Amino acid sequence: MPTCVECGTSVQDLYTKYSEDNIRLTSCDHCHQFADKYIEYDFVIIFIDMLLLKPQVYRHLLFNRISQTGHGIESNITRFAILLILFEVYIKWFRLERCCTQYNSIFIHKPLYYQYLYILALCILEFVVFHCCVCLALRVYYQNQNKVIRYNYISMALIISSFGKMLLILMVIWEYEQLEYSWLVSITVLASNVEALSVYLDLSYVKTLFIVGLGIISRIIAQLLFLRTTFVDIGLDDSPFLRTKWLSL
Ligand SMILES: [Zn+2]
Repeated sequence: MPTCVECGTSVQDLYTKYSEDNIRLTSCDHCHQFADKYIEYDFVIIFIDMLLLKPQVYRHLLFNRISQTGHGIESNITRFAILLILFEVYIKWFRLERCCTQYNSIFIHKPLYYQYLYILALCILEFVVFHCCVCLALRVYYQNQNKVIRYNYISMALIISSFGKMLLILMVIWEYEQLEYSWLVSITVLASNVEALSVYLDLSYVKTLFIVGLGIISRIIAQLLFLRTTFVDIGLDDSPFLRTKWLSL
């Protein structure tokens, strides 16, 4: 059932269609505002509202854009998730190249396909661990409550709200000297993850932040373990400072 983006109550429909280009938005009986104003909005405005962390836009995307009867991840969201992972690979590679050149690591002398597959494996691992740990934390949190959690929608909420990672491309275009600026993008992604999950689960920001925080800690631990077990293989074992650099990748 569609949802009013303003107050979150269910509505019968979002609009009435009179002809091909003539629709009338439905007003919500509860809050007396348009149930979903974003139906008529351009994608650019939707994107800006996502950046501004407006809960209405996340209700629109999570309740009214995604089919509420599916069991898996929608194909366009799967494609977006793949794009995010590939993008992360590119950014990690970009950082690593600078890092290894600075400390003369033999990793950059390995074949390109080896470097790519290594970073791709790391990114996929981080993605899977983050999603699984957030779902696990929610399962533990709701185990004594009579609430049905649809984990595929949790994953879709996390994927959609990770759009902020795309902003990292600006670092490549503008060639920042200090890669540490990326923490600003990480905070944007964290904030939008919390906003999306909070809206979807109707959970307070503090509790949602705690759950997403557990996912991030698990992702860092997974990254550490992955790097620890492969340091010798990639020739980074004799460069302790590089290890700490890797952690900020
Ligand atoms: Zn309403």
